[in-house]
Amino acid sequence: MAQPQLVDQGAVAASADRLTPTTMLKDQWNMVKELVAADIGISHGKSWIDPLELLGLDGMILVLGSPNSFAKDWVENHYLEPMIKAWKQINMVIQGIKIVIHEAPVTIANTNSVTSPPQAKTQETFDSFEKEEPGTYTGAPLDNRFTFENFVVGKPNELAYAAALRVAESSTPQFNPLFLYGGVGLGKTHLMHAIAWKIRQCHPARKVIYLSAEKFMYQFVRALRYKDMVSFKDQFRAVDVLMIDDVQFISGKDTTQEEFFHTFNALVDKNHQVIVSADKSPSDLENMEERLKSRLGWGLVADIHPTTYELRLGILQAKSAALGVNMPKEVLEFLAFKITSNIRELEGALNRILAHASLVGRSISLDTTQEVLRDLLRSNDQRLTVEEIQRKVAEYFNIKMSDMVSNRRMQNIARPRQIAMYIAKQLTSKSLPEIGRKFGGRDHTTILHAVRKIQELCADDFDFANDVEILKRSLQT
Ligand code: ADP
Ligand code: MG
Repeated sequence: MAQPQLVDQGAVAASADRLTPTTMLKDQWNMVKELVAADIGISHGKSWIDPLELLGLDGMILVLGSPNSFAKDWVENHYLEPMIKAWKQINMVIQGIKIVIHEAPVTIANTNSVTSPPQAKTQETFDSFEKEEPGTYTGAPLDNRFTFENFVVGKPNELAYAAALRVAESSTPQFNPLFLYGGVGLGKTHLMHAIAWKIRQCHPARKVIYLSAEKFMYQFVRALRYKDMVSFKDQFRAVDVLMIDDVQFISGKDTTQEEFFHTFNALVDKNHQVIVSADKSPSDLENMEERLKSRLGWGLVADIHPTTYELRLGILQAKSAALGVNMPKEVLEFLAFKITSNIRELEGALNRILAHASLVGRSISLDTTQEVLRDLLRSNDQRLTVEEIQRKVAEYFNIKMSDMVSNRRMQNIARPRQIAMYIAKQLTSKSLPEIGRKFGGRDHTTILHAVRKIQELCADDFDFANDVEILKRSLQT
């Protein structure tokens, strides 16, 4: 990825007047200003960065307006680096910054001013929406594989599954909203689609709309731009069931949040069902307005936990059966053991093995599986964290997790701590100082000492070596 940089004068045509920043860009600019102020000091930020006007994007060049040429020169000479650094963190699309003198600043403080004429070209990302007709706001299509029938239920997802099914079958909301959350690739989208399919089947008259929070935002921005808010509001508020996937996407996007909040309230007040998914619980969502977070937690909050071995095996069995292939039992077990990250990767692994088998025309064995998935298996191994090791070891020796970082020296605590240090060195790619930091900021020599000590003890004491070996193996699978 190319480094963003200061753009040559003249590289951007004198077209600043035609530009209009999008809501998203404005939100990003606000974040950038905060980052830069943190970097250069609040008072410098106030003096130099705050007076800059965000004018918009010209291609991939960000255009800022400065009130006079002195300020422009000063900022270019002193604060360009920190600004570029901050933009790089927030929006990788931006390839450069151009500052122009802009004496008549445009108002960007409230959303009403974002209604520029349709021909104004703003950010690349919105292009696909410009092709859509204004006045129609649509949901996303449903994937016909994502049904309740195809969803394998296990301990980690049974609550979410039961709640989803209940919502889909009931004719009036039992809890509102239903908030589903969990890590990536654990089945949130699958459950959302399953609900939508089921409602169509059980209650065909109900109007259901399913879309990602991202798409909600784009449509909202488009409605603002085309001065079409009335129709936007009418359409979203007329549905019986509104489903918004990945609501964390609107974190930090204040105007979209505001609109979503009102839509949400309008629907819930009418007793229409709202279903939301996210990667975190309502209270853990960052950069979300408090009142929205609290409102999202009012109904039923159902989390999807990381997968267990049983669930992974069940999913592999179900998927291979559905595909009509006969996978050797040990291959399925091996995959369920090894691919622990999420279900999407598990599916990906299965598909790769099947594709390979049909390509080379050989039957599937444990050996070919290991060969085909070599890179994937390695990256799954690397995911083992020092915290996980600490937790497992603490559990095994029945000591507190906090003792992994404490200074307590009793042998029954210090020894397990050293074992955890030793295993961390063996099973992760972390350096000694990095491991030291994870153990309450200990010095790297402490870690080295622990590693040597445990090696010695393993050589001398068979039972001890056995304990360490069991722990290591249980962490590796
Ligand atoms: P998320 O939205 O949580 O990131 P998805 O719903 O997209 O995850 O799930 C990722 C993949 O895993 C999809 O192909 C989905 O069908 C599959 N999947 C997830 N959970 C299950 C499950 N319990 N049973 C069967 N397939 C599942
Ligand atoms: Mg999803």
